[in-house]
Amino acid sequence: MTTENQQEHARLAMGSMRSAFANLQKTTVRQRLRELARVRQAMLRQRESLVESLMSECGKTRTDANIEFIGTVDWLLWLEKNADRFLRDEKVPTPITLMGKKSKIMYEGLGAVLIIAPWNYPLHIGITQIFTAFACGNAVVYKPSEVTPLQGVYESLLSASPLLAQSVAVVYGNGELGRALIDERPEKIFFTGSTKTGKAIARQAADYLIPVDLELGGKDPMVVFDTANLDRAVAAAVWGAFTHNGQSCSAVERLYVQDSIYNAFNQRLKTEVEALVQRLDDSGDADLGRLTVDFQYRIARRHIEDAVSKGAAILVGGDEIDASQGLMQPTVLTGMDASMAAVAEETFGPVLPVMPFADEAEAIRLANDSPFGLQASVFTGDRDQADRVAQALEVGGVSINNVNMVEGNPWLSFGGRKETGWGRARGVEGLRAFTRSKHILKDANSGAIEANWYPYTQAKHQQIVRFIHALFENHPLRLLRVAITGLHLERLSQRKR
Ligand code: NAD
Repeated sequence: MTTENQQEHARLAMGSMRSAFANLQKTTVRQRLRELARVRQAMLRQRESLVESLMSECGKTRTDANIEFIGTVDWLLWLEKNADRFLRDEKVPTPITLMGKKSKIMYEGLGAVLIIAPWNYPLHIGITQIFTAFACGNAVVYKPSEVTPLQGVYESLLSASPLLAQSVAVVYGNGELGRALIDERPEKIFFTGSTKTGKAIARQAADYLIPVDLELGGKDPMVVFDTANLDRAVAAAVWGAFTHNGQSCSAVERLYVQDSIYNAFNQRLKTEVEALVQRLDDSGDADLGRLTVDFQYRIARRHIEDAVSKGAAILVGGDEIDASQGLMQPTVLTGMDASMAAVAEETFGPVLPVMPFADEAEAIRLANDSPFGLQASVFTGDRDQADRVAQALEVGGVSINNVNMVEGNPWLSFGGRKETGWGRARGVEGLRAFTRSKHILKDANSGAIEANWYPYTQAKHQQIVRFIHALFENHPLRLLRVAITGLHLERLSQRKR
């Protein structure tokens, strides 16, 4: 497609979603949630073909594809059960200074919003964001990654609800189409992808003052203290690092193990990683599939070679299986330091550097020594230590004695800080992220004149000063004084000049 065609494509998509938004404004949250349920049911009916699509486009194992499916449907159920409650008008208190009035907050849809997705979880990220935005009353332009577009899958699911089919435009293209869509000024951009692209999007959006949420790259640390259950910590590290071949934004990419258990831990880790089964098109009996894209394979290889050239050792893995198919052994590296690319940069592949630490302070320092701040996990038998470390880590979420589990609970929002960006997905915060709040103060349609309105007179001014004393000074009869001075002020305010 030429640049002009891209712009036209973007203009048409955004234009049709602006019209769809006008239509959506006539619907209630409950109506929209009923439509959403129809799509969820279609997803359940089509589970097997969805899993096949994820396997063929992403190279996932059957179990990884099903895990992606579970998380997606679980979020839809959460929305169906809870969105109405959190999008409903919210009554809030009105202070004594505004006696007789009522206050509330409304949460409204924004308009036609743009969701741009990466290639690693093309079902989960797309569906959870699209349906959150729709539940809030937005029409959505959705641009999947050109690497794993799942062409036709969304259209097929959306056809279960005519309203949803009209309210979501799925557009296919690369970054150029993404830029063209931003030039059409969506009301909001929800972007998930790399830090480099996130920064480019933030710069472009700044010109139009479009609000942007950025869910970007990660380099998640896992910290294992010597009081942790070793079997559980090893199993968690292996899954956390290698699920979907490490191509998860919150994969364990740095493993810090207390020095007193470092050798014993590594021995078990080696055994567990060697036992992993890697195969394409499995029937539920493989742990790892292939890397999704060849450039990811090249990054993972570069990180291993850089580490080895600087003195690191390969504890397990390190060999190619079949580069042409994206098959690469899960690899654990020791003898690492912070100058190595596998520690400093996001790998997004099956490479796990393991490093020792002496004590809690050092573990926190090392874990925080990263430009990224997505998630972290802490394994310890000491509950107070778990809380202290979780509090000190510069990340958006922490799993304690678990790994990557914050995203398993729809009540918990997901996101990061530092170069991982800003904004939150899912949870109440991620739901309301697709709304604009409107704040309402309601008074009676009476002839009363407010104390802060004109005319300003000497008498009224003196009464205001008395009212201030009554309001803000500690006094045993404070409320009575406020009531008396307030009533006087009220009476004075009704006089004409
Ligand atoms: P990417 O940044 O290359 O692409 C993401 C999307 O942005 C694609 O749809 C792409 O077409 C589009 N795009 C590219 N350039 C654009 C531009 N200038 N304007 C608008 N859109 C543009 O990322 P990727 O390689 O698809 O995904 C991998 C990255 O995503 C990793 O860094 C990973 O950590 C991150 N990720 C983060 C999260 C999270 O929740 N924090 C989740 C999943 C993936």
